Amino acid sequence: MTREEILKKIVEEKIKFIRLQITDINGMLKNVEIPADEIERALDGKVMFDGSSIEGMARIDESDMYLIPDLSTFTILPWTLENGKVGRFVCDVYKPDGKPYEGDPRSVLKRIVKKLRDEEYIGYAGPEPEFFILPRDEKGNPKLELMDKGGYFDLLPIGHGEETRKMIVEALEEMGLNVEASHHEVAPSQHEIDFTYDKILETADNIQTFKLVVKTISLLRGMHATFMPKPFFGINGSGMHCNMSLFKNDENIFYDKNKKYELSQELQYFIGGIFEHINSITAIANPTINSYKRLVPGYEAPINVAWAASNRTALIRVPASRGKGTRIELRSPDPTANPYLLFSVIFASGLKGVKEKILPPEPVVENIYKMKEDKKMELGIKKLPSSLKESLECLKNDEFIKDVLGEHIFKKFIEIKEKECRLFDAAVTDWETNKYLGIL
Ligand code: GLU
Ligand code: MG
Ligand code: MG
Repeated sequence: MTREEILKKIVEEKIKFIRLQITDINGMLKNVEIPADEIERALDGKVMFDGSSIEGMARIDESDMYLIPDLSTFTILPWTLENGKVGRFVCDVYKPDGKPYEGDPRSVLKRIVKKLRDEEYIGYAGPEPEFFILPRDEKGNPKLELMDKGGYFDLLPIGHGEETRKMIVEALEEMGLNVEASHHEVAPSQHEIDFTYDKILETADNIQTFKLVVKTISLLRGMHATFMPKPFFGINGSGMHCNMSLFKNDENIFYDKNKKYELSQELQYFIGGIFEHINSITAIANPTINSYKRLVPGYEAPINVAWAASNRTALIRVPASRGKGTRIELRSPDPTANPYLLFSVIFASGLKGVKEKILPPEPVVENIYKMKEDKKMELGIKKLPSSLKESLECLKNDEFIKDVLGEHIFKKFIEIKEKECRLFDAAVTDWETNKYLGIL
């Protein structure tokens, strides 16, 4: 939409408020709301906000930031919580000197998109976010209680969760996301909604919109949707598989009909690049303490750094589709990852693999969960980091990823996450009291 079309729409639709939306380092949505009659000022990039109040954003002495709306992201929220309709823009954060702000995760991804474009590449991604829909108690707090006994692709039970998911799909469509599939997932109360893939920046924006919609619609129906990676011990956790491909001159360069499995050399190099940096990518893809409770054997989540044509125990799977639809599916990310930083580190590493012709080990056919350790050694299959602490240690020593994220975000991210680890180390958990209190 052009500026004029947006202004016209705001009048026609009687929009009362405009939300200017950004994402902080932790992947949390933040927004400044302005009355609709301030829209010209917003479109001129004159709306300021105090960056120092947002996690990881700025030091007090350089806290004035400008929000520059990305016109292509304009949409209308399909619910009204206030007295009137609300329009929404995703924004970029700029400094008073007119330069993009280094602490803005979206600016990191824009840099990578440009880097790809400089070499005539376009990166595409389609995510598969999973989440649980849980009940709330009288006070409105989420309850750790499963709401159904449903399983993968179940038609029944049509419970509150099911209806809520349907309303989420409707709201997403109203906001311009094209939902391709929506189903009950393996665990009770667990759901997945897949929307059409797009260029990586657009997909990162869509993931943020998606989370907002899932949370809001659930809340309006008296429920709580959670993207926590492993809310329940003993059943599947929630991942966010990322399907990804790389195009050049309108051709999918992962496809080569003359090669084995019809998969190109570039696809292998892209995987090789990701594998080379996978330990530090994991800190970004699985950024919470709880993320690592999901990455354990037996629950369809990966733990081994391997790739396969069709094998759900591998870190990267290549789904059956060929031609323009040829893609890799990275199975480790979970929905707590900041999508801007996630696609930045993955595509930068993949591009490096392509440029430097980094080959991954051979694809694996067997179930890796069941493979003996010495066999894994022989095949060169490494393990993913098993804790946030471990992946952070790897990130700290990765100069390439530091360069991708930029010094500011790199340092801030590590600082925030190391603090999280320290707090967890000091916490006394239910597991400990259950195990030790009675016997010691
Ligand atoms: N929920 C599983 C995970 O933690 C994935 C299930 C699936 O294959 O969709 O990654
Ligand atoms: Mg799934
Ligand atoms: Mg999948």
